[in-house]
Amino acid sequence: MKICTKCVLPETFPGINFDEQGVCNFCHEFKGNDKLEEEKKKCYQKFIKLIEEVQGKSDYDCLLAYSGGKDSTYTLYLLKEQFKLTVLTVTFDNGFVSEQAFKNIRSVTENLGVDNIIFKADFQLLKKIFLAATKQSMFPMKALERASSICNCCIAFVKFTALKFAIEKRIPIIAWGWSPGQAPIRSSIMKMSANLFKSTQEMYRRPMFEIIGSKINHYFLKEELFRNDNFPWNVNILAFLDYNEDKIIKTIKSLGWVNPTGLDTNSTNCLLNSFANVIHMKRYNFHPYAFEIAVMVRTGLLDRQNGLRKIYQEEDNPNLLSMIESKLK
Ligand SMILES: [Zn+2]
Repeated sequence: MKICTKCVLPETFPGINFDEQGVCNFCHEFKGNDKLEEEKKKCYQKFIKLIEEVQGKSDYDCLLAYSGGKDSTYTLYLLKEQFKLTVLTVTFDNGFVSEQAFKNIRSVTENLGVDNIIFKADFQLLKKIFLAATKQSMFPMKALERASSICNCCIAFVKFTALKFAIEKRIPIIAWGWSPGQAPIRSSIMKMSANLFKSTQEMYRRPMFEIIGSKINHYFLKEELFRNDNFPWNVNILAFLDYNEDKIIKTIKSLGWVNPTGLDTNSTNCLLNSFANVIHMKRYNFHPYAFEIAVMVRTGLLDRQNGLRKIYQEEDNPNLLSMIESKLK
């Protein structure tokens, strides 16, 4: 398979083409790190201003969608310790969160002194959705370029659960622990618009509605909530702050975080992830993390060799895969 000589994107990635040197169009479109650093600075200033505006006005300054993984753990640390925000963490339990991830959530939130809510959705309902996602492409290709169908299902639950909590508790900021490769800098700090969110909701809700019917609706926003213009800010701080994997691991280990074992190289918290990756690879012939890892390599956050290893050498774990298959039945 042909792979870009600068990043890690394969020839099977949607919309890709290569020049004579084997460099892909995504690498050509990248404006360079100087431009990126400039944008990062602007986003940082914007965030500081936002904090000044909202801090202390509600019970919580910020809600963090907290998976217990390394990036969201580090994000929590920064929000609390560097930016001095009062944070409510919300964890979505899809039935496949590893025991170690739960232990990590408990240690880290206890050590940092923050509140945590675990939201466990009806597993019978989730199972039906996950199983359907293994058999069909549920979402538009644009969404599947960045994450598998199964991951997209969970992302929807996480997004809308977080949004409902934030609106209900009048929390002005929703923070995400996306890595710099997962979320682009231009959307790293933005006020959510009801209209935009309504169409995003339909993209996620509609295919799930077709699978399980109206029971899906109570996980999403009701019409009247879209009429209130009190939507929170969406902030992804790792997109504009320094990102260094060694430093991140060192910092979060000091908070009691322990690296989970037996998972694939791209996820430190969800057991379903490897399974979802295998299905995605079979169906589309590219790894669902390829885009994210390519961004990290292009911007110098990850060296190319490690990037290639992360997406072309998925660790085979037949025990894990069969455990997941039987749990989904
Ligand atoms: Zn490339």
